[in-house]
Amino acid sequence: MIGLDGACMDLIKAWADDGKLSTFEQLMKEGSYGYLESVTPPLTIPAWNCLASGKNPGKIGHYSFLQKAPGSYDFRVYLSLVKKERDIWDILSDYGRKVFVFNAPNILYAYKINGYMVAGFLCPSEKNLAYPKSLMEVLYSSGYVEGEKDAVRFLTASDSERSKMLKEQTEKQCKILFHLLSKDWDFGFVVFQELDGIQHRLWHRKDIVLRHYQHIDKKLKQILEKLEGEENETEIIIVSDHGFGPNNRMFLINEWLSREGFLKIRRGISFEVINMLIRTVKGSNALKIFRMITKIPCLTPLCQRLFLQSVKIPVIWDKTRAFSYGNWGMIYINLEEREPEGTVKKEEYERLRDEIIEKLGKISVRAYKKEEIYHGKYLDLAPDIVIEIDNYVNSVNGKVGYNKIFMPGFPQTGYHSKNNGTFIAWGSNIKRTFEANARIYDIAPTILYMFGLPIPRDVDGRILKEIFKDNAKIQKDEKRRIKEKINALKRKGKV
Ligand SMILES: [Zn+2]
Repeated sequence: MIGLDGACMDLIKAWADDGKLSTFEQLMKEGSYGYLESVTPPLTIPAWNCLASGKNPGKIGHYSFLQKAPGSYDFRVYLSLVKKERDIWDILSDYGRKVFVFNAPNILYAYKINGYMVAGFLCPSEKNLAYPKSLMEVLYSSGYVEGEKDAVRFLTASDSERSKMLKEQTEKQCKILFHLLSKDWDFGFVVFQELDGIQHRLWHRKDIVLRHYQHIDKKLKQILEKLEGEENETEIIIVSDHGFGPNNRMFLINEWLSREGFLKIRRGISFEVINMLIRTVKGSNALKIFRMITKIPCLTPLCQRLFLQSVKIPVIWDKTRAFSYGNWGMIYINLEEREPEGTVKKEEYERLRDEIIEKLGKISVRAYKKEEIYHGKYLDLAPDIVIEIDNYVNSVNGKVGYNKIFMPGFPQTGYHSKNNGTFIAWGSNIKRTFEANARIYDIAPTILYMFGLPIPRDVDGRILKEIFKDNAKIQKDEKRRIKEKINALKRKGKV
């Protein structure tokens, strides 16, 4: 399974039709392909978590990379609040299949598995980057670890620097991928972030974006060539966590909540001064200053803290009924007994949610109650209202001090889109030139089906049976299935 963060099916189809992406064209001609619908809102976290588990955020408790801690106004890294869900590779590993997982964004810390694991790009330290530890040698020698440290440099890089860095990162990732492909494996998963990285900043420069899709196309060709030399037949599934679209405007959700009287912000002198400074030192100057600061190593943790602080706003809690955090378009009700300084009575909760949703509707912002889009045991952790703007291109920000509700999306000219993600399946059991659309929850059950393994009852997706040829050799021997189940239980010490 090859993950292409942010790969947009509309672009792939158009450029493959024009003969500009020969490997994608070949894979689609010889395989099944279509749109992959992401989660609402279409964020990298929890999208990869949903893809890997086949379950909606309500079941796994992951709503965004940083999410509100229960009973507190703090927001923390999601894995510090909820235990990691079991992903397809965990199930495959339990059944004795050899797996490798490389750069899955939902893996923050590598852990023991029947095979190899390199944590995703959000992994906070080298110490937890790889399992087994011996893998670190390859990560060092390929320059991969060095590259991971470039995260801050990347944020402040110029457009051409950014483009170059993204390509280099893919090159390094491919080196490690080829190393892992030479091992003994039944299932492998790798994620490349190149397309997401370039599209956020340069969606308006389709010439540059095309060059990155062509770069990935070339890498896919190399992967295919490598696999062709193998004894066993391989099936390939290409997936993205969300698609992409134009980021015409950004919705300043807390400005709106404040204007409508739902949120009260402390607008003291220091707040105004900071905002004036931000407004004066904007654009490239701010970038230059930020870049300068980030060059001083000891200041990097400070920058990270400042980033966390910048998504927080000075809320006067006892005068606030609803608020939002960060850039995720999630609204929390300041509910009595649930929040430290809750102001909204339980009996007012529904009426308030209706009122907010109705008022958002008047400015053409779509909003959902949490239970309309999520279900499961972790529904309590979900924001009370989730919003979507501009045909599911998700661009929302919790910043305040701009005195307007919408502002231009620039410098991010592209943003995640829910409906035009990528799905391609290729291999001897897969139908040729067949169009099949999928939901992000369908990938996990479909892969378990290909391995003939039982599918957890509570997955939210379905097996994409339509993509398989009628005579497909799916490993579904019932006896073997039972035997394997027993072995798996034995391994866990339950029998
Ligand atoms: Zn993403």
